[in-house]
Amino acid sequence: MSKVILTGDRPTGRLHVGHYAGSLKRRVELQNSGEYDKIFIMIADAQALTDNADNPEKVRQNIIEVALDYLSCGLDPEKSTLFIQSQIPELCELSFYYMNLVTVSRLQRNPTVKSEIQMRNFETSIPVGFFTYPISQAADITAFHATTVPVGEDQAPMIEQTKEIVHKFNSVYGETLTDPSILLPDSQACMRLPGIDGKAKMSKSLNNCIYLSDSEEEVRQKVMSMFTDPGHLRVQDPGKVEGNPVFIYLEAFCRDDQFARYLPEYRNLQELKDHYSRGGLGDVKVKKFLNQVMQEELEPIRTRRREFEKRIPEIYEILRKGSEVAQAEAAKTLSEVKRAMKINYFEDAALIREQTERFASGC
Ligand code: ATP
Ligand code: MG
Repeated sequence: MSKVILTGDRPTGRLHVGHYAGSLKRRVELQNSGEYDKIFIMIADAQALTDNADNPEKVRQNIIEVALDYLSCGLDPEKSTLFIQSQIPELCELSFYYMNLVTVSRLQRNPTVKSEIQMRNFETSIPVGFFTYPISQAADITAFHATTVPVGEDQAPMIEQTKEIVHKFNSVYGETLTDPSILLPDSQACMRLPGIDGKAKMSKSLNNCIYLSDSEEEVRQKVMSMFTDPGHLRVQDPGKVEGNPVFIYLEAFCRDDQFARYLPEYRNLQELKDHYSRGGLGDVKVKKFLNQVMQEELEPIRTRRREFEKRIPEIYEILRKGSEVAQAEAAKTLSEVKRAMKINYFEDAALIREQTERFASGC
């Protein structure tokens, strides 16, 4: 079986270091591993509209921002198909048929949908499109026969829901769709990177992000203003490392060789953590180190972005071509789906023969 990746991001803002740790960095590694036959990276504008219906301009503006972030991180259109979700009408058609395979109560139980409804204060006015976006995500994944979906932890319930749809479809209509596997980041810190405000998840919608495109000074200011352990008031006080965003970020981003260069009195993160827990290590010193680590990671991305920003028409062309390739792939799957569901009447020679005989025999 060929190995296929499908993943993507909503164009609701520029991409942040949570995306990078949770999915983007991994995607680039997988792309360059040469182990995958096809890689599809989707800018999920139709999904972004499910909770931004009154603000299409936001989505329109952010498509290019996300594409610039992709290219600056190393996604390569020669190796990965970059495309825009709304340009593939087959995805809507697939969603429409999958809707019959999912119950309202199952969607209501989806923990990510539940928490996002709460976060967006939808209460009882939940847009139907938003409520059903896990189904459209199943369409996105299955349209490309994806075997692997590299995402952050918040997406686990979506992949679970997709797998249920695949099983249901295949058991009702016969083996047609591919069962995908989620690929989560290796470390707990990258699964769900917290915001700089210490909230559980860095998210564009929560305004607590370090963006990949932030300037050196913006990154420095954000790191220095980060939430730490509120009980760690004086340098000599013992500090808490668990749940402390500064240490979670170090977990996600720092390497041992950076200690030798920036903080030679410690050999690794464990030694730094031990000192913080014992007391006697100030937040400012840790944050300064984190800033150096983040700048080292982000500087090459920033530099590449500045180059790509000079080539905007070319980037739209990459997305147009990618969308064409993606549409051809999705169209193939849609026709397999319609054949399995026996709604491909005009190419169903058996049906036409059967009906001809039925009427000829007069019954
Ligand atoms: P929005 O607030 O509009 O939902 P978002 O910041 O949650 O935006 P998405 O576009 O929904 O971003 O997510 C894109 C991908 O990035 C998904 O695979 C998701 O799991 C991953 N991701 C998003 N935020 C984080 C995070 N804080 N830590 C790890 N992975 C993340
Ligand atoms: Mg999200």
